[in-house]
Amino acid sequence: MRVVFGFGTLAQLPDEADHLGVSRILVLTTPQQLEHGEQLRSILGTRVVGIYQGAMMHTPVAVTDDAMRVAGELKADCVLSVGGGSTTGLGKAIAYRTGLPQICVPTTYAGSEMTSILGQTEDGIKTTLRDPRVLPDSVVYDVELTMSLPQSLSGTSGINALAHAVEALYAKNANPVLSLFAEEGMASLAKALPAIHHDAHNKVARYQALYGAWLCAICLGSGEVALHHKLCHVLGGSFDLPHAETHTIILPHVVAYNAPAIGNALQVIGRALACEDAAAALFDLAKSIGAKTALSDLGMPHDGIEKATEIALQNPYFNPRPLTREGIRSLLTDAFHGRRPSVEDHR
Ligand code: NAD
Repeated sequence: MRVVFGFGTLAQLPDEADHLGVSRILVLTTPQQLEHGEQLRSILGTRVVGIYQGAMMHTPVAVTDDAMRVAGELKADCVLSVGGGSTTGLGKAIAYRTGLPQICVPTTYAGSEMTSILGQTEDGIKTTLRDPRVLPDSVVYDVELTMSLPQSLSGTSGINALAHAVEALYAKNANPVLSLFAEEGMASLAKALPAIHHDAHNKVARYQALYGAWLCAICLGSGEVALHHKLCHVLGGSFDLPHAETHTIILPHVVAYNAPAIGNALQVIGRALACEDAAAALFDLAKSIGAKTALSDLGMPHDGIEKATEIALQNPYFNPRPLTREGIRSLLTDAFHGRRPSVEDHR
């Protein structure tokens, strides 16, 4: 994978296209980011054969089918996604099916661009696969594009990134190099997010946030995940909850639940966030950026606690602390009501 990072890096897109030897690029985006799509067209000129603006959350297979039809009609030889994880997902789904080269320009902190993971939905069921064909060939991070990311999404998307780093610290395949990436990524985001909440146009903070998100994305791409990602997957899939906001609410509670089994990880999070109590600090970080802290505020029904507990216990991912029905129910109940957790809760 080639990676370009900085301000104004979109100017290097023609070089990336030349490197891949492509000349008929289909740009993928959403209606909200059509302007970004047009910006890429103005930089790449006649190399862009069309802009498809139908990317949607959770990569519905029907949308991929439609985009593939357009790519076929336009004889596209490359897909270029510009947007958040949803748009990246569409580029990955097309690359997976066609083998077309893929360039990705991420504009949130979700981190999909560094992974070979593809989540897709069909008939309301989300499935996830890992395949090397899904990994983008080239990623161009341009901090300028993140300046328009709404403040609320900037904060929750940043904590979504933090969650990748946290779980890499205690994943089954955790290793000291990934832990270095995780610590640096978390520290950078923890500084940047409150500053962005204060001033969305703070360029230094935007740079720090995207740099931190890149590091955390590598953690997600190379590490494995555990209870946190499993619960977010279950909640998103069962109640159609928004991705980044769900991650933001769940993370402090999972850290509290796992606390008795992740002593080293707590030390790393403590250094990165300059805190004594990692669970409480992650909750306070979410509060400080104005994020919602209760699942009830996202529209999850109260009886969803029982349903989600049930599903979470089916095919569980690896987790450093064994899962118990009572433990998961109590974690979800706390998250439902927005209670401030502590690493002492489950000791
Ligand atoms: P998103 O991609 O759904 O974006 C939310 C909205 O914000 C969209 O309308 C988008 O166009 C808009 N937006 C994005 N960047 C913007 C910007 N800079 N300026 C203005 N508007 C902007 O949200 P997300 O949180 O980035 O991604 C969530 C999706 O990504 C989920 O479906 C999740 O499953 C997936 N994801 C996948 C992986 C993976 O490795 N496969 C990793 C992380 C997330």
